[in-house]
Amino acid sequence: MTQEDYERWMRVAIEAGRANPINPYGCSIVDITRGEVLETGVNHANEDPTNHGETDAIRKLIAKTSPNLPNFRNLILFTTGEPCCMCMAYILYCGFKEVIYGVSFPDFLPYWSGSINLRCREVLARIGTPGAAEPQLPGCIVTGPFLEEECKQLWPALSKK
Ligand SMILES: [Zn+2]
Repeated sequence: MTQEDYERWMRVAIEAGRANPINPYGCSIVDITRGEVLETGVNHANEDPTNHGETDAIRKLIAKTSPNLPNFRNLILFTTGEPCCMCMAYILYCGFKEVIYGVSFPDFLPYWSGSINLRCREVLARIGTPGAAEPQLPGCIVTGPFLEEECKQLWPALSKK
């Protein structure tokens, strides 16, 4: 897969985000073995505080493949904003190969009165409990910010113009 493929897939997430002009957190999930977008999602936190762009796309994909699970190790999740700690936990429990985000978490401070101050790479770094009997989660590659300026255009207060 080329850089152009990754940019195209992030732009799918950007387009998905436009469905919610207030909270334009958009997401796309790509099967990297087939180069195919399997699902998209957008933030629905006004209806369900736990339904962010990432969880929307993940829940829809799981519903689509039920009763089987998707092969998450072949999947990359693109999201216009850095995953919050809840979404990052979803991503790690599912076992995604990689997550690629557009805008970094601290850049959203103008929009937030308060949130949980935990970056996605910090969540990743906390995988595993010393001495635990259960196997650790496989972890994933975190890439970002990616296409940051294009993603910032979704949020008027973040864009330079
Ligand atoms: Zn989230």
